[in-house]
Amino acid sequence: MSTGTVIDLKDKILIAIAGPEPPFELEGEYFNYSKADNDGKRRILKEQAKVVTTTMTNDEYLLDERKKFLEKIQKSELLRNENWTNERFMDGDAETTNSKFLAMKYFLARFNTAKQVSKALSQDKPNKNRREESDSELQPYVNQYKPPNRRILITENITFNELDQIPVYCDITKELDELVIPERLAFDYIDCNFVNKEKEKKLVDAINMSKERKNQIKCECAKKKLMCHKNVNYPCYRMNKAMQKIRHKGNTTAPCEFQSLGPNTLSHARNIFFDNCGFACSDECACEGNCDNNSLLIPLRHLFPLEIFQSDKDIGFSVRSPVFIPAGTPVMEFTGEIVERATLYGLSEELADEHAAYSIQWNYHDDWQFHKFFNSLNFTDEYKELLARLYKKKFYIDPTNIGNVGRMIAHSCCPNLEVLRVYRKSLSPAHVSLIMVTIEDVYPGTPFSFDYGAGYKVSKDTYLTTVCKCRLFSCQGNGSNDTFKTLDTHSMAVIIRRLHQMRRTT
Ligand SMILES: [Zn+2]
Ligand SMILES: [Zn+2]
Ligand SMILES: [Zn+2]
Repeated sequence: MSTGTVIDLKDKILIAIAGPEPPFELEGEYFNYSKADNDGKRRILKEQAKVVTTTMTNDEYLLDERKKFLEKIQKSELLRNENWTNERFMDGDAETTNSKFLAMKYFLARFNTAKQVSKALSQDKPNKNRREESDSELQPYVNQYKPPNRRILITENITFNELDQIPVYCDITKELDELVIPERLAFDYIDCNFVNKEKEKKLVDAINMSKERKNQIKCECAKKKLMCHKNVNYPCYRMNKAMQKIRHKGNTTAPCEFQSLGPNTLSHARNIFFDNCGFACSDECACEGNCDNNSLLIPLRHLFPLEIFQSDKDIGFSVRSPVFIPAGTPVMEFTGEIVERATLYGLSEELADEHAAYSIQWNYHDDWQFHKFFNSLNFTDEYKELLARLYKKKFYIDPTNIGNVGRMIAHSCCPNLEVLRVYRKSLSPAHVSLIMVTIEDVYPGTPFSFDYGAGYKVSKDTYLTTVCKCRLFSCQGNGSNDTFKTLDTHSMAVIIRRLHQMRRTT
């Protein structure tokens, strides 16, 4: 798929910027599914659903998946040549550093306002009288999901695309006639972001202008694959480095590097989203994105096998992988429609609430730094003016009707993924991608999660953090252990290390 390919989906004319994979090649049953409304989609899914049983134990299943995964890597010239062995990253010193980072992140997730955070941080001291938690107390937080041997397979492939097969299971009920297909499972699957040409005319202008030579960012000199991250003369790598410097004042910690195969580490638990922004090679570059400067390389290749499952009525759907994924790996992209705030809130009140609940707002007032940044570049004046106008607005990625697996990832107060921004080809709001990067080693079967943010509300005056049902270590919501809610960051770091040790041996 090349820049600005237009696809026709459900009578909407959409424009997709990113590649190189097609958003989906319309295959087999996809047309019928795509044409159907929400009820129709749910009917199709319900008709597909069947009971499946396995005689394999969970361990046998994981071993089998690992074998298939390693064979897949052997077939990939790029991954084989890089000797990417998928070994754990959180070991030794790295584990100590990472546990501190995670502890601080969980600590901050308890508070909804900046004022609360500074007050709490000033009171954060190691508690010398704290008793040691036993392994049995920590066991509930190991959090690796072992499904039953008899499950309902709702669909073998929610993407309807051979490139990227993601099955959906229901483990709540054992009987087909009790199966309810939730409305939120019925959506159109897409692998890259898109813009609706009718709704976002200014973004379409930006896309057209970005094709002018001066406004494009791509490497033309790459002869050898994989070199882009080692050559400061390559425009994409230079841009990647420059964008890493767009940070809050006073933040002197190392920024995320945004490499293809990582580790892409994070060192500072505050302002993660806005202090870590990168640029990646794309199919427009001579390397075609098959290099070490493309943090979308793994997500675009769908390297990790994924499974969507429903095991808990309160949490809804979750996503997990049967293979191990080291910390600092971009696992997937969060895709959907790039919309301006006014478009989102121009919907009826009920629809706007629903769309807002699924969407990620990815630019804020802090973007004056971003203004300064693109103004310093060699873009045409016309393009710079348009970007200045666009970045005064707030943009969202809205996956409600059309999106990918990213929308199925549950919230957690102790998440294992972080969402980060990466640009490709140019810098307009239409060129952004949200990548989901593991912030700790993720052991096979562990549900993925990310923090929906301190400001996320479930109703007009209720913050999600106060009613969260993730029930993980240190969760602030109901039903979790009070001891863990109040721990200082030092004690939490110790417990996090023990939890990781327990996961390794489980
Ligand atoms: Zn490259
Ligand atoms: Zn490049
Ligand atoms: Zn929680």
